[in-house]
Amino acid sequence: MIAKSMKPFVEGGSAIRKMFEEGKLMAKERGAENVYDYSVGNPSPHPPMEVYQALEYLSTKMDPHYVFAYPSNAGYESTRQAVADDLNERFGDHFDMESIIMTAGAGYAINIIMKCLLDPGDKIAVFAPYFVEYANWARNFFADTVVVPPNEKKGFEPDAAELKKVLDPSVKAVIINNPNNPTGAIYSRESLEAVADVLREAEKEFGHPIYIISDEPYRELVYVDKKVEFLPDIYDDTIIAYSWSKSLSMPGARIGYAAVPRKASGSEELREALVASCRVLGANNASTLAEIIVERSLKSTIDLSFYYRNAKDLYRIVTEAGFEAILPQGAFYLWFKSPVENEMEFIEAAKEEGLLLVPGRSFCSPGWVRASFCGSHKMILRSEEAFKKVGKKYFG
Ligand code: PLP
Repeated sequence: MIAKSMKPFVEGGSAIRKMFEEGKLMAKERGAENVYDYSVGNPSPHPPMEVYQALEYLSTKMDPHYVFAYPSNAGYESTRQAVADDLNERFGDHFDMESIIMTAGAGYAINIIMKCLLDPGDKIAVFAPYFVEYANWARNFFADTVVVPPNEKKGFEPDAAELKKVLDPSVKAVIINNPNNPTGAIYSRESLEAVADVLREAEKEFGHPIYIISDEPYRELVYVDKKVEFLPDIYDDTIIAYSWSKSLSMPGARIGYAAVPRKASGSEELREALVASCRVLGANNASTLAEIIVERSLKSTIDLSFYYRNAKDLYRIVTEAGFEAILPQGAFYLWFKSPVENEMEFIEAAKEEGLLLVPGRSFCSPGWVRASFCGSHKMILRSEEAFKKVGKKYFG
């Protein structure tokens, strides 16, 4: 018999995964060319050349004992030093080798951070719409999630005034995901500074740090002339969760890191605790193969023009079909308004035309819909008729 605390995870499932599975069934029934899967975020561009060169290098030139043995819990020193140097070069001098803890993606980075910050009954705050796993992960540590309502009028930017309303002494961390899944927004410096002001005030009032967990798997995926702010420049108590799942197109390799800037409150204790949580949560360390690959590919990213073309064409198709959409600035998601208040009704109508979309309620923002445009460009062009048909149903 499974534990009571596990039941909600099993029963809740994941709407995105469900849609993905449904898509496979639909492809069997209707033919793959008549199904347009905009549900999951599985990147389709190939990793850059440096990744393949690193693979060849590690399999032909390196000592297998180094490649396959247990590293220390935080990862290879050379990888951590290379990541710290790269961050310092790009964003200013915030990191030492000890600041970087290699992890199985941003997901695992957030989990070890939560393990270090949350006691049972503590809370994290998130801005809707938000990546739904945050709340599940917090629940693993018997912590609650408080949701700041979506700021639709201001393009879904984080709303500092609303954040203030949900803060109390049990809130230990706030998650910010920029560029954002699902809205594709890149947050303005003004909004982030306002959030930082509110948090500094609350830290003083409650007498303990409130960390920002800066979830940055899409940091490099930017399509407009807008800076992705580096949060440690704005707020000292920031911990970064990064991933190469998207920037190098290798989500299955499970590789990322947690980074604690020197100036964050209790940074030394935190770094030690993060290393200990790699151990006590059972992963022990990130993949050694993937560490070697990213160390040798730090200056590269996938071809961004692939996503940019997808973003432009999907935006055109969706808006020409009559929908109100937000032009993606970064990440690889198009966020658009459901033509009816209950977006589940629209999701079903879209499914009849072969379109698989994710309901906004999966991100705590009903009335909106997410389309992930990391699939092939051909699929996006093929889906135009389906969007037109479903648009006609609502807009005539
Ligand atoms: N955070 C956000 C906002 C995401 O969209 C994802 C994956 O899609 C993750 C974290 C986890 O990514 P990974 O664990 O592959 O790095």
